[in-house]
Amino acid sequence: MDIEKLVQNQRDFFSTGETRDVSFRIKQLKLLKDTINKYREEILDALVKDLNKPRLEGYATEIGVTLSEIDHSLKHIKKWTKKKKRKTSIINFPSSGYTLRSPYGLTLIISPWNYPFNLALEPLIGAIVGGNCVVLKPSEYSVNTSAIIVKIIKECFSESYIAVVEGGKEVNQEILKEKFDYIFFTGSTKVGQIVMEAASKHLTPVTLELGGKSPCIVCEDADISIAAKRIVWGKVINSGQTCIAPDYLLVHKSKKKELMDKIKDVIAEFYGNDPIKNDDYCKIISEDHFDRITEYLDGLDIVIGGRHNRQTLKIEPTLVENVTLEDDIMNEEIFGPILPVLEFDNIDQVFSIINQNPTPLALYLFTKNKTIEERITQDISFGGGCINDTVMHVSSQNMPFGGVGRSGMGNYHGRWSFETFTHEKSILKKATWIDIPLRYPPYENKMKWVEKIFK
Ligand code: NAD
Repeated sequence: MDIEKLVQNQRDFFSTGETRDVSFRIKQLKLLKDTINKYREEILDALVKDLNKPRLEGYATEIGVTLSEIDHSLKHIKKWTKKKKRKTSIINFPSSGYTLRSPYGLTLIISPWNYPFNLALEPLIGAIVGGNCVVLKPSEYSVNTSAIIVKIIKECFSESYIAVVEGGKEVNQEILKEKFDYIFFTGSTKVGQIVMEAASKHLTPVTLELGGKSPCIVCEDADISIAAKRIVWGKVINSGQTCIAPDYLLVHKSKKKELMDKIKDVIAEFYGNDPIKNDDYCKIISEDHFDRITEYLDGLDIVIGGRHNRQTLKIEPTLVENVTLEDDIMNEEIFGPILPVLEFDNIDQVFSIINQNPTPLALYLFTKNKTIEERITQDISFGGGCINDTVMHVSSQNMPFGGVGRSGMGNYHGRWSFETFTHEKSILKKATWIDIPLRYPPYENKMKWVEKIFK
């Protein structure tokens, strides 16, 4: 594909003003929704092929959330796109003010393979709601899902409005040479840096949705049965290949044995005694990732699980103990179904362990203690999280989702997606029937009046 020509065609189309029309945006959202519904089974098939994603998980975490993002946007788009009245100051008397949100223009969305449908489509919805043109670059690893995304987008939109470009990092590097007006990237911190560097050449603003080591803390007073279920679910869906999966467990010494026993039971309850033979258990995306994850197990104390099969690319839910903060597993994002377990005596230790790594994307805390909740949520920097649950904070369109520091910048979902893909313009509208001369030279004798205004 001739990227330069594609970008020029999109610029020409954007300049017609068609995408700014709110009824045009609504029409495209409805079309996208109908087409997703039409290909629902093909999308689910593709997710099975790419990740062995169970159809229920595929629907809930990829199609369902995408459809409800469209519905939410359709419900609110008229309100979001309205001009907002703003107060003006006495300096500008007589005047009125308003803000309006304008599309950036040409946007680039780069998505990863772990939730390959949702993480490509959800930002796309924001870009459409914002009134932009889009070049979408899905991951080269989730080939089957990328193919169905291409089919859906081609059926819905002209390439001069929304186009999908397939390919690996070489293609991505070609795309990144072009000037876009906004770049929305989801992926690893390492590639996020490459994207930001490329964006800086054109001073293009970016949203970076990255990863990190998300801690899960279980306090003395936690409901251990509930904690075990919710931790296993959050860690094991998609075989741990979830950016906000609990990366490691910090459990109060007094509750460690009880929690480990419960986790073992829950894994058996969810996936049977041989999870890697269970059809409802996801596989690892590639041999490289499989090797990377299983290498962590060398030399560690496996207390639960540990079996794996390179042919099927499946790794059992695995808990490891006696890890030190120097081990690789405690210094890199795991992104697989292995959970290191560390213990603590008092909550201050939790702070020093978490602070040894850069700001996490998510944090989970199991406790009934309000003081501990306040301390952890206020004094630790992280993207977002849950009290007494894992992962589910991502599911609300009424809360922004995004990282901070090394786990990313900017956010999206619901209204925040619309805001991410638009620029807020401030407009001051001045009356002409009077022109107060205070600001104009000559300044003599005006100081006392200017001082009064600022009091
Ligand atoms: P990745 O960074 O390897 O790839 C993401 C995208 O970047 C892909 O489209 C890929 O083609 C492209 N890319 C890869 N190398 C490139 C290069 N050198 N130059 C230019 N482009 C390049 O990430 P991944 O392996 O697909 O996904 C896993 C990572 O994504 C994890 O770190 C995970 O935490 C993170 N993630 C974050 C979120 C979030 O919402 N914050 C969601 C999902 C995944």
